[in-house]
Amino acid sequence: MSREQWLSHSTLLRETIFEGYIANIEPLRVGSGREPPLEAPVDLAVLRIRYGGIDVPYIPGSSLKGVFRSYATSLARHSGIDVCTGLSKETCGETKHVDGKKLNERIDELMRSSDKNAIKVFYENACLMCKIFGSTRYMSKISFSDAYPIDENGQIIDVRTGVRTGIAINRRTGAAQASALYRVEFIEPGARFRFSIRCRNLPNYAIGMLSLVLKRMYEGLIKVGGFKSRGFGAVKVEDLKFKNRDFMKEPSLIMVSLEPGVDKDVDLTGVARLKDGWIISEDKDAWRALEKMIEAWNGFVGKS
Ligand SMILES: [Zn+2]
Repeated sequence: MSREQWLSHSTLLRETIFEGYIANIEPLRVGSGREPPLEAPVDLAVLRIRYGGIDVPYIPGSSLKGVFRSYATSLARHSGIDVCTGLSKETCGETKHVDGKKLNERIDELMRSSDKNAIKVFYENACLMCKIFGSTRYMSKISFSDAYPIDENGQIIDVRTGVRTGIAINRRTGAAQASALYRVEFIEPGARFRFSIRCRNLPNYAIGMLSLVLKRMYEGLIKVGGFKSRGFGAVKVEDLKFKNRDFMKEPSLIMVSLEPGVDKDVDLTGVARLKDGWIISEDKDAWRALEKMIEAWNGFVGKS
């Protein structure tokens, strides 16, 4: 196996799934950022989606992806790994140069001529965050589902919302008043949103990095949504389930290295079981399994 093989989208080596619930322990505000209609009972409503015939508050997968990439970026930087911000003009594809061209342009060229080196050039030049979370020319290795307030059977769990009044200054352009009261809708603490994070071909250390983000989220260190500085957005992770399937070998509880010389095997014996080819770990064991994955990330960081 070559070092860059995990970056290829055409070969399925591994599938990894994290699922469970995000439960807010502080008020939660995930808004649409759009101006509400004039007759709306609140000025800033929480984002809702039609589910099972009714409108329910939810957390879009894109919001979760943003939270994860942003925290992972700071984790990598704290460990001395050079990674880009992921903002459109600042991705590796736009800022790095290969053979006198932007990385994106060089990759386009190689792709047009069906050159197999495209992946190799991307591997050698893009940062870890672009490899894992994707960039303009490269599909993400992780997909975040929208998190709905539903139980395992898809039944909607009740979500209570409240309204707070704040003071805005010149919120509406052209408004004459210097300040105005506005009403903000939020989700009351105690709501549960079912999430699922699916990863393709991620090496153990990258799964470890995601595990560390989930752990920090569980510890209340990563907030979701808006108004974070005003006591909003802390969440817990509940009923965690970790699943992994390696396709290039016989099923076992050992997750093998996907990047020779960089990644290392992780043995999940004692914290997971095998079922239909899948490694499955739930609740307390799932967190123990994540600890083992985090060790792989720490090993990677130590080597980088
Ligand atoms: Zn990058």
